[in-house]
Amino acid sequence: MPQAYAIVDHAYDVVVVGAGGAGLRAVVGLVEQGLKTACLTKVFPTRSHTVAAQGGISAALGNMGPDDWRYHMYDTVKGSDWLGDQDAIEYMCRAAPEAIIELEHYGVPFSRTPEGKIYQRAFGGMTIEYGKSQALRTCAAADRTGHAMLHTLYQQSLRHKAEFFVEYIALDLLMDDDSACRGVLAWNLDDGTLHRFRAQSTVLATGGYGRAYFSCTSAHTCTGDGNAMVLRAGLPLQDMEFVQFHPTGIYGAGCLITEGARGEGGYLVNANGERFMERYAPSAKDLASRDVVSRAMTMEVREGRGCGKDKDHIFLHLDHLDPAVLAERLPGISESAKIFAGVDVTRQPIPVQPTVHYNMGGIPTNPGGEVLTKRGADANAKVPGLMAVGEAACVSVHGANRLGSNSLLDLVVFGRAAAQQAGKTVTKGGAAPSAPKASEERALGRFDRFRHAQGKEPTAKLRLGMQRVMQGHCAVFRTGPLLEEGVRELAAVRARLPEVSVTDRSLVWNSDLVETLELDNLMSQAAVTVSGAANRLESRGAHAREDYPERDDANWMKHTLAWCDDKGQVTIDYRPVHLETLTDEVQTIPPKPRVY
Ligand SMILES: Cc1cc2nc3c(=O)[nH]c(=O)nc-3n(C[C@H](O)[C@H](O)[C@H](O)COP(=O)(O)OP(=O)(O)OC[C@H]3O[C@@H](n4cnc5c(N)ncnc54)[C@H](O)[C@@H]3O)c2cc1C
Repeated sequence: MPQAYAIVDHAYDVVVVGAGGAGLRAVVGLVEQGLKTACLTKVFPTRSHTVAAQGGISAALGNMGPDDWRYHMYDTVKGSDWLGDQDAIEYMCRAAPEAIIELEHYGVPFSRTPEGKIYQRAFGGMTIEYGKSQALRTCAAADRTGHAMLHTLYQQSLRHKAEFFVEYIALDLLMDDDSACRGVLAWNLDDGTLHRFRAQSTVLATGGYGRAYFSCTSAHTCTGDGNAMVLRAGLPLQDMEFVQFHPTGIYGAGCLITEGARGEGGYLVNANGERFMERYAPSAKDLASRDVVSRAMTMEVREGRGCGKDKDHIFLHLDHLDPAVLAERLPGISESAKIFAGVDVTRQPIPVQPTVHYNMGGIPTNPGGEVLTKRGADANAKVPGLMAVGEAACVSVHGANRLGSNSLLDLVVFGRAAAQQAGKTVTKGGAAPSAPKASEERALGRFDRFRHAQGKEPTAKLRLGMQRVMQGHCAVFRTGPLLEEGVRELAAVRARLPEVSVTDRSLVWNSDLVETLELDNLMSQAAVTVSGAANRLESRGAHAREDYPERDDANWMKHTLAWCDDKGQVTIDYRPVHLETLTDEVQTIPPKPRVY
């Protein structure tokens, strides 16, 4: 029996879990409508991972050349390798210019053209006239776009008096027996108290789970807690096998060198000094889609043309660019290259390797942010009271591969849409639902079990075991036998979880317990990722199977839905991709081979 914990009770119209770009954009929209809104976050809002976003945010503003949201839609569908839902992609690309102007009015300090318009740079896979030539579409605040956005959105939230609960870690959703969400149970790390947040609507904006892998560009806090809460609530996650590897993580350190560096003219070379991307993507070259560039780099290394004494990485050259451009447009990455690779970018190339960067999969939602599940024949059944936005969600606009600068856009477009949808379904100042007892007891039981875990396995050792399985078995190239071995090895690591050792019993600032709860969260996401990959017998976007090298639209143009029970057993089902568009203004973009 769990210890009897005293619980502080709160009632709100809406509770948002997460204060990154997605959570804050939702919060701003909710409080602007006068909804009583709480925002819980395990780190201070402006330390959320969005702060690290460098290169920019896409929108067909046409400030630096011709552009159209329909070209952006085409690029996004193609980038998604036809796994993205075309209605959601239409919604996002059409809404993008307005979303950027709104950010500008909120106060985001975008870089400017000499005429004073928002500056826009080249990014991979972004074209005009349906693939004819490179677009300049990515709006940037130097190479610190996420930082600028996050600070602005936090200030706007405070201006409208949103209530923040900082360094509160959400433990679990409070779910009714009829699968409706009634709020969330959270732990205040600062004073050790437990809190029940009851709300008509709960919005998960908890970000991605990059830390399931050994080498990633994301923060230590990116453990996908919301995704794991959804799995524990008996709901599915969608398309989790699609994990994006960014071509240019700094070799060894994993820190990101933005694609904007190649957008400003940077290029990749192998050990022979050859600009090899010309062979793999003759038109787009270094600005081909991320999955294409990451695979090309991996092939070069495999075929013995890697750089360095171990021939295991690639060089990124920026040293031919004007130092004034580097200082103005890429100051942050120049600094990162110095600190993490000891490289002066004005004189030396940066050693880089493909590194886990983004999760295309997540909590299935409609474009209004409402969480979906499959019930019987209904593949789009709503889960009452539960919404999701940002990297935690899968709308799905990124499908099998996200285009760079489309994530920040996803955060603001769907953060705003979720707030608007909540405005329609939530009664302002209405009674908050009562808390479901059984669900709360389950959540407390899990918390208490880990708090008192007295096994012999250190959390860090189990985490490393999981991360190595993921990195070794479910990376840029995959095969059936390797994935099946990954499923087994992951199950073996998970079986050791009950033997975990938590040495600190305190409720105040117990990082040992936080990391163990996060590890438990990561384990279930790792399980659905590898199982989803093992089941998908084709190559599409970021999922490259050497034993099934072709995309197979006849059998596999469908979203994976994956459930995971508390023993780690994964169940898989599928739901159709939405090929239909939202309006008659655009036609469905029919599938074709994806060449750059
Ligand atoms: C280095 C890097 C650079 C990038 N650059 C770009 C770019 O230039 N353009 C682009 O479009 N995309 C970029 N991306 C991707 C993009 O930054 C992310 O996808 C995006 O910021 C995710 O935002 P989010 O709001 O969904 O989540 P996050 O910003 O990760 O925020 C998650 C929030 O959830 C909270 N949280 C999590 N778990 C809990 C819990 N249990 N309880 C309470 N709170 C919790 C956290 O405290 C945090 O506030 C980049 C990614 C990386 C790694």
